[in-house]
Amino acid sequence: MSSNRKHEPIDWHGAAAKLSLDGRMFVGGERHPALGEETFDKRSPIDGRELCPVARCREADIDRAVASARQAFDDRRWAGKSPAARKKVLQKFAEQITAAGSELALLETLDMGKPVQYSLAVDVAATARCIAWYGEAIDKVYDEIAPTAASALALITREPMGVIGVVVPWNYPMIMAAWKLGPALAAGNSVVLKPSEKSPLTALRLAELALAAGIPPGVFNVVPGYGHEAGEALALHMDVDAIGFTGSTRVGRKMLDYAGRSNLKRVYNELGGKSAFVVFPDFADLDRAAKTIAGSMFFNQGESCNAPSRLLVHRDIADAFVERLAAEAPAYRPGDPLGGKAPMGAMVDEGQLDTVLGYIEAGKSEGARLVTGGNRVDADSGGFYIEPTVFDGVDNRMKIAREEIFGPVLSVLRFDSEEEALAIANDTSYGLQASVWSDNINRAHRVARALRAGTVHVNCYDEDDISVPFGGYKQSGNGRDKSLHALEKYSELKTTWIRIDS
Ligand code: NAD
Repeated sequence: MSSNRKHEPIDWHGAAAKLSLDGRMFVGGERHPALGEETFDKRSPIDGRELCPVARCREADIDRAVASARQAFDDRRWAGKSPAARKKVLQKFAEQITAAGSELALLETLDMGKPVQYSLAVDVAATARCIAWYGEAIDKVYDEIAPTAASALALITREPMGVIGVVVPWNYPMIMAAWKLGPALAAGNSVVLKPSEKSPLTALRLAELALAAGIPPGVFNVVPGYGHEAGEALALHMDVDAIGFTGSTRVGRKMLDYAGRSNLKRVYNELGGKSAFVVFPDFADLDRAAKTIAGSMFFNQGESCNAPSRLLVHRDIADAFVERLAAEAPAYRPGDPLGGKAPMGAMVDEGQLDTVLGYIEAGKSEGARLVTGGNRVDADSGGFYIEPTVFDGVDNRMKIAREEIFGPVLSVLRFDSEEEALAIANDTSYGLQASVWSDNINRAHRVARALRAGTVHVNCYDEDDISVPFGGYKQSGNGRDKSLHALEKYSELKTTWIRIDS
């Protein structure tokens, strides 16, 4: 699919009708069916249409992919290249991603339901930027010499780890993969990527683009399939050196167990969240705060790990704030994801739709007040759409305040003091992100320090740059994606002592 001329709107429906889809696995630089020839059907959440059969990889396929990755690592066809040479290839890979932007955006939207204009402007752009950034960085990272006695030279060097298993979710399929691929490939590793069974298509296409850009065969392999089959086999594999996982806390727990039961591979977990957005009465611009939380909460249909799903607002301004939210939220009503204008698209599948509707019922039955939304809409399209939903009068002990909903449902909780706000904000098993809104500089710093989260925003939300780490405290995970720190996850640290005789 060629990209559009400037200012000419893309006919996404027309483009979708012409798109050719390929769900076969990608191993050793080639497409293959799964060894057992098994497939699963991939349906689009936007209208229920069948997209294509996708290879259902099982243990034997994972063995094949890991063997290919191991051979590529051992013969150093990628690891042995200079950082400057790897940089050039990764930059080319990023250029290929940008050039195939319309096609990748369409695949992402058909697969998981987000509005196509965001797939293009956010997902494709961030994926290309991430790959290019790690390429750019890798020939500027130096190793170390320790300050030992003069009788020795102690070198501290970083080496690629080997074969990295990557297991990712469906909410930002390309970006989540890129956050692992960028540092893992830049550092010289080989990768076996298992995308979510709900969104396998862009990962497979990315592997083809990587090969075309010069990433040698076997260095980047993609094995679609179910979590309990392909994902489990990859995480249990004795020849995989580390797992970069993004997904639910439930499966993150399993990843640690798989490592314990196999070769003690490193496990980097990036997990769920229930992030607090805390608004104090000394913050003047309530309109901006209300617009910000609505935008961040309802972006990507609320299917974001860092969605600010708990709004904590001081009782003195709570009514005024909820009034603003009630006016803001309906503007996010979902629409046709291929139309190019809808602010929200479809939930990823019927299961997720039912889960979110179940939480909405739980909110009502536990006594929260439904302010707006709460319903499935456009069911006759065959797709899975839910209105932006706001509950007021939520207590932090309610299910909708404690559990990650992963849909467009915002809970409003009221507080009377800074102390109470902090107690509520930190009373969660998660610790991914948080936000404090205050015009008092002392309070803003005090609260930002006390919030137990990997990222804290002050008078903003969803700030994003590839140069800063992303990850959580507590049960939101143990790793950090993005930034130079992510290179550490996929590198071994080696000490070499050299004796110097006098
Ligand atoms: P999930 O945990 O169900 O699945 C994630 C991946 O794990 C998928 O590829 C799946 O096939 C695989 N998997 C499932 N069961 C497995 C098993 N038994 N063994 C091995 N692999 C298995 O999560 P999801 O529903 O795809 O994604 C939503 C979750 O991801 C949310 O909790 C969200 O917060 C989290 N997430 C976190 C971040 C972050 O950076 N912290 C970013 C995006 C999403």
